[in-house]
Amino acid sequence: MNDCIFCKIARDEAKAEKLFETEKSVAFLDIQPRSPGHTLVIPKKHVVTITDLEDEDIAEVFKTTRAVVQILKKALDPDGFNIGINDGRFAGQDVMHLHVNIFPRYAGDGGKSIHSIVYNPLSEDISETAARIRTSANL
Ligand code: 5GP
Ligand code: ZN
Repeated sequence: MNDCIFCKIARDEAKAEKLFETEKSVAFLDIQPRSPGHTLVIPKKHVVTITDLEDEDIAEVFKTTRAVVQILKKALDPDGFNIGINDGRFAGQDVMHLHVNIFPRYAGDGGKSIHSIVYNPLSEDISETAARIRTSANL
């Protein structure tokens, strides 16, 4: 897409601190890192959400995510990682080009787990939720 900043980074038309690149994916440092080594992994093909990602692009995005975790572990020696996607506007996605966030975590950094993003418990039993999902998806 012409006006997408991440497409421009993928095409080398915008500057970024690229760490790793494959035919279909690229990883670069986040411009406003939430932690030292905060990296974004994107498919080069413009897609907005994970459901838009085509079969042929999925493997490389996650292989690159794993490669970056290994690179960051060696370079920065973090104590762990949070890895996640803000999928859709209501989940906090600002840049509408799918990106996997890799947040290196360091002992004592004050951060929490992915579970701290939301607490919106259901009023029903999870078996009822499961039944509704299975019925809808014909599982
Ligand atoms: P979102 O809220 O869409 O999941 O997060 C977008 C992320 O992309 C943010 O962490 C933001 O700092 C990062 N970002 C936005 N624009 C740029 C850019 O031009 N270059 C880089 N390297 N990161 C960006
Ligand atoms: Zn794009």
